[in-house]
Amino acid sequence: MTNPIIYWTRRDFRLGDNPALSAAAASGRPVIPVFILDEVAESHGACPKWRLGLGAEAFGAALAGVGSKLVFRRGAAQDVLLDLIAETGADEVHWTRLYDPDAIARDTGVKAALKAADITAESHPGHLLFEPWEAETKAGGIYRVYSPFWRAVKDKNVPALLPVPGRIEAPDVWPKTEDPATWNLAGDMRRGAPIVAGHLCLGEAAAADRLAHFVETRIGAYKDERNFPAVPATSKLSENLTYGEISPRSAWHAGMRAMHEGQPGAEHFLKELVWREFAYHLIYHTPEIATRNWREGWDSFPWREDSDAPEVLAWTQGRTGIPLVDAAMRELYVTGLMHNRTRMIAASYLTKHMLCHWKIGQAWFAECLIDWDPASNAMGWQWVAGSGPDAAPYFRIFNPLTQQDKFDPDAGYTHRWVAELAADPGADARAFFEATPKAWGLSASDPYPDPIVDLKVGRDRALEAYSARAF
Ligand code: FAD
Repeated sequence: MTNPIIYWTRRDFRLGDNPALSAAAASGRPVIPVFILDEVAESHGACPKWRLGLGAEAFGAALAGVGSKLVFRRGAAQDVLLDLIAETGADEVHWTRLYDPDAIARDTGVKAALKAADITAESHPGHLLFEPWEAETKAGGIYRVYSPFWRAVKDKNVPALLPVPGRIEAPDVWPKTEDPATWNLAGDMRRGAPIVAGHLCLGEAAAADRLAHFVETRIGAYKDERNFPAVPATSKLSENLTYGEISPRSAWHAGMRAMHEGQPGAEHFLKELVWREFAYHLIYHTPEIATRNWREGWDSFPWREDSDAPEVLAWTQGRTGIPLVDAAMRELYVTGLMHNRTRMIAASYLTKHMLCHWKIGQAWFAECLIDWDPASNAMGWQWVAGSGPDAAPYFRIFNPLTQQDKFDPDAGYTHRWVAELAADPGADARAFFEATPKAWGLSASDPYPDPIVDLKVGRDRALEAYSARAF
């Protein structure tokens, strides 16, 4: 049987430990890898969409290095796949499963269309350590709290890594490919693309180096240092995990080895990897987490929902007058990433001091993050806002000044990102003004603004709004 197999890559840009690619290659039949800029990818925010395209291009180069190729097409996934099948005579399509509602809706439609055309469609694990349905409570339900979820999965067997396929058979004739450069995915990044590009860590080899470097130099102190945004203490693997440039199993096994070697921070790193699993467990079983208050009791909460309000603009532009929040928002704009501690602080300021709906913040992060992940972003926002599972209690309102004293005591982080606060601002602080759209009209020589919401006034107002409602 020599009909080719289509390997449809979406967020699994790696040759190693890739069950879908390995299964296609193991058939011994010609394999046609394809990346489709489809309806789901088109709906992404500017930065994740651009980064997705770059990840696909890097994967294309890696496939070319092993005698294969990546075909690029743009269009509705189902139409493109059926066209490719008609062009090539392929009779099987393999892909790695995704679990967010948009991907599930697309994949369900594609699967039905392929079945109707008598084509075998096979989905594989690989995006997660555990399938979201593999963990269930003793009563057979889902987990709504992280700690018992961690206890349920921590001793589960995580299979060994799959090797890079020895050979990926090429078809006699390759189908036509589009040139992804013509898609101009950087266009929506406005002036940001060249600046954010300097902070990317692109592709499977770079992701493996990143993990190795973290395990060699940082994992031991991870638990103690991971909350200090001025310290490069965390792995930064979220960027690579979201595009599948590294498998979660690679990170898990590396963490396990470090733990067995006695590295004190290693178990905590494994716990963080399981937060990602928990986010997927939640979004798979309760997909509304991405779009609605996970706790319905919050539906009557008087969030402000006007995303064009001047205060919201000030928050997105890193001009709230609260240094730690502004540093976080500028780090996001320049690097496409934000430290986890300051994600929580910036999110808390928006949803609590400013009383804005978490969806406003969720959408801005989805526009700007290079590690944007539909499950972790939704869970993170609802956790901070208080409306989500295992959420921070409503009365926990991060005070950014106390947080700064505790986690950025030397102001290394705020001075790195907020030019107006430093006598001689460094390159990163200045880069923010080069990256932002000219229409924002920002300049490093502008005076630093007064707080848009006084911390005490905002805190009291939030507590009053919360206590007026019984949750
Ligand atoms: P490390 O500290 O090295 O942790 C290792 C890995 O564990 C991470 O790469 C990540 O995959 C996982 N992890 C760590 N913390 C969390 C967490 N709280 N939730 C889920 N997974 C976690 N993470 C994303 O990957 N994409 C998002 O879009 C995203 N949005 C967020 C929004 C808000 C409001 C908040 C509070 C958190 C969000 N997070 C998101 C989670 C977290 O901030 C990032 O995963 C983390 O900062 C990534 O840095 P790192 O790779 O150095 O993590």
